[in-house]
Amino acid sequence: MKITNSEELFSRAQRSIPGGVNSPVRAFKSVGGTPLFIKKAKGAYLYDADDNRYIDYINSWGPMIMGHAFEPVVEAIQKKAADSTSFGAPTELEIEMAELIKSMAPNVDLIRMVSSGTEACMSAIRLARGYTGRNKIIKFEGCYHGHADSFLVKAGSGVATFNIQTVPGVTAGVAADTLTAPYNDIEAVEQLIAEYKNQIAAIIIEPVAGNMGCILPAENFLEQLRKICTKEDIIFIFDEVMTGFRLAPGGAQERLKIDADLVTYGKVIGAGMPVGAFGGKLDIMKQIAPLGNVYQAGTLSGNPIAMIAGYILLSHLNSNISVYKELDEKGDYLRKGLFNVFDKANIPVAINQIGSMLSVHFINKPVNNFADSSAANIALFNKFFHAMLDEGVYLPPSAFESWFMSNALSYADLDNTISAAENAIKSIK
Ligand code: PMP
Repeated sequence: MKITNSEELFSRAQRSIPGGVNSPVRAFKSVGGTPLFIKKAKGAYLYDADDNRYIDYINSWGPMIMGHAFEPVVEAIQKKAADSTSFGAPTELEIEMAELIKSMAPNVDLIRMVSSGTEACMSAIRLARGYTGRNKIIKFEGCYHGHADSFLVKAGSGVATFNIQTVPGVTAGVAADTLTAPYNDIEAVEQLIAEYKNQIAAIIIEPVAGNMGCILPAENFLEQLRKICTKEDIIFIFDEVMTGFRLAPGGAQERLKIDADLVTYGKVIGAGMPVGAFGGKLDIMKQIAPLGNVYQAGTLSGNPIAMIAGYILLSHLNSNISVYKELDEKGDYLRKGLFNVFDKANIPVAINQIGSMLSVHFINKPVNNFADSSAANIALFNKFFHAMLDEGVYLPPSAFESWFMSNALSYADLDNTISAAENAIKSIK
């Protein structure tokens, strides 16, 4: 496959952008090679700067649940842009967006729009601290909640991909307020709660983790956390930046039937525009300025172009809930198909999947936390990634990221992906 244009663009990019990219994992640093520069995308396919076509399993890391350039979204953006791209004043569309989110997601009495998942999680933590008057938070090893200082402790995503142990610039004071426990380890959480009695403001979790590969919560794990939070007056925060509007119209809260106190959103909520949101129970959300003194703001928050994109996509999902069943079936189909390929080739593998989130771990045991996903054969994943790219399939360039499927994927695309995996395995063996 010829990628000379991407190669040229990458060397040019590195002269003016750190590492040539505006977000680290994009640089292909851990898998090696040249990142593909993307020219355009439509439906299930990406086209790079050399006009190569790829079946896309990143989907902008989640937002593109209906595939790229989804026509109702594109048309709405184009129309809306003619009325100006930002006002910094309230609009009726923001009310419609908030009302729609409240109608889809459980436990959202009030919702504040922001411009990224990082902002959503950072604000939710500040709110939990402001509400409880406590400083510490518990997060889980391998979970990623954006790049705010409090979250860069044993974090997933790029922090895991690049094996960064301590992030320079995060003060020891901030890091000391972030306690961590292994995912799916309730005893570890109980120990922290006992040790830091009445000091913990919040437990924040990805209810299905997607930043150390895709890792499902063990049976009863979230239920037990819910109980602990209620008993100890700790705010239970679901980071649904990946799972929100993806695993069900009401996200993981609906799908797994667990109530959160606060919930954060990103990705699908903005249909590919820079959008995040945090919301939750009235009593807590009432503390946010201007109702309360927990300050949080944004020049571009509720931006009309971002709002119309998200509103149109969420409305579509809300009135076509069969999309979720279709995605579940496609997810199951892909997992089974890939599993057969590895099984036939005698390659030990754990494939984790729920609905349209999936990850492949080259290891001979189940993968239930960050230690498990780190113990997998990362070098083999990296080879597999490149072999798949050569076959025209674009996977996340890291063994620590979930794949995201869009409903634009046809069964022919899935079959092509499965045969690509078969060829990829032959070529690297
Ligand atoms: N939370 C989760 C679960 C995420 O996956 C991400 C980003 N991948 C974030 C928060 C941060 O979102 P953003 O990159 O939009 O700041």
